[in-house]
Amino acid sequence: MKAVRQWSVRHAAGLERLYEAFAQLAPLLRPLATIIGKQGTERMLAPLERGAKQLMFDCRMCGTCVLRKTGMACPTNCGKSMRNGPCGGVRADGGCEVDPAMRCVWLEARDGMRRISPHDERTGSLPPIDFSRRDRSTWIEVIDGAPERVQPPAPPPRDRPIHAFEAACRSGRFVTTVEIAPPDSADPAALLARAAIFAGLVDAMNITDGAGGNCHMSSAAAAAILAAHGHTPVCQIACRDRNRIAVQGDILGAAALGVRNILCLTGDDVSQGDHPQAKPVFDLDAVNLLRIARDMRDKGEFASGRKLETPPDLFIGATANPFAPPFDDRIDNLEMKIDAGAQFIQTQFCFDLDLFHRFMDVVRARGLHDRARMIVGVGTLSSVKALRWMAHHVPGVRIPDSVLARIAQADDQRAEGVAVLEETIRKLREIEGVAGVHLMGHRNEATLAEAIVRSGVRA
Ligand code: SF4
Repeated sequence: MKAVRQWSVRHAAGLERLYEAFAQLAPLLRPLATIIGKQGTERMLAPLERGAKQLMFDCRMCGTCVLRKTGMACPTNCGKSMRNGPCGGVRADGGCEVDPAMRCVWLEARDGMRRISPHDERTGSLPPIDFSRRDRSTWIEVIDGAPERVQPPAPPPRDRPIHAFEAACRSGRFVTTVEIAPPDSADPAALLARAAIFAGLVDAMNITDGAGGNCHMSSAAAAAILAAHGHTPVCQIACRDRNRIAVQGDILGAAALGVRNILCLTGDDVSQGDHPQAKPVFDLDAVNLLRIARDMRDKGEFASGRKLETPPDLFIGATANPFAPPFDDRIDNLEMKIDAGAQFIQTQFCFDLDLFHRFMDVVRARGLHDRARMIVGVGTLSSVKALRWMAHHVPGVRIPDSVLARIAQADDQRAEGVAVLEETIRKLREIEGVAGVHLMGHRNEATLAEAIVRSGVRA
């Protein structure tokens, strides 16, 4: 099956011509379909379509075929159901985060698009799968002349209050955010103790949402607790665990409890965490979650179109990973997220400044830093052993050998790690278009607070 799938991508240009011919000729079958009836025609077509497309593309009959936009690579084969380019977990050899033996579907898609249209290999923005159409025929829609499903244009921004973190980002000063792991506890005391370490040192505190596929207190609840205690939380919302009904409920609930900032992300696969038996949901990807959150705020409606009584006031963020292949796709993916509503971006750990410089060169050339605040992920761990583990086990993290060697040779590896972190923060501060740093480090709060003070970003 894999070989046939790869053959289809290699012959994407020929298959595209075949699809185009079908699109031109299909309306001629409309009178016949009218005589047989739409349902009857679909009953005849669906098994044919399923047989042909399963063989050629490993198709799952999602009912809204997008093969012509994805270079004849079927995106339903993606382990995280990504609809708008690769996730941040693509391995260095192009292997999938979920199934390392499989090449990332979105690398295949870009190859196929390059064959179809050598001057523009972008795959375009796709709406979420319409699961009510699962197992239905797409060919009948072509015969029927049904309009193509496209993403609706962005609504005009709504006038709304500007809260603390957004005001800090708009001020133009260098901002600092930190990631806090919510506790494995029904008692908020541990969460508040962690947050207290950063009081006065950061502009906002991200509460991770089952980071790495591990179970903790919910991000929405932890963010609400912090907001009630005078902190400025960023509630992270991952697509891995909840469908579109649940995430919209969480966005409204968090906003009603005083949470003003959200970070939309696809999320790590469940296989990375402590519940590998769990069902990965991935009903949405980050781009579609961003659109939904923005439309809840600016259109005042759910994804279904049903009106909200009171829209949430939200400052909306997204993630980016400049350090994972395919590097060219990273900028397109970033732009897609900004188009979908991202106002601030927090990146994966930056250890490779050369690569990050190259990323920012393109970000500036495309003016993306003017449309969303770029906040760069930084951090350290206590030893070179821990850093090596992270580089090998956390998809999308890249640590150059020179950095590992420097820390390995130090007498005090923890102190050297902090020194590298401080230097990185200082260097990032000098890069045009970098709006701030986002400190990450699982249960490493004291070290991160020390690095914030010593790097001089906050007194
Ligand atoms: S690497 Fe990510 S985007 Fe690519 S196929 Fe795997 S899960 Fe999907």
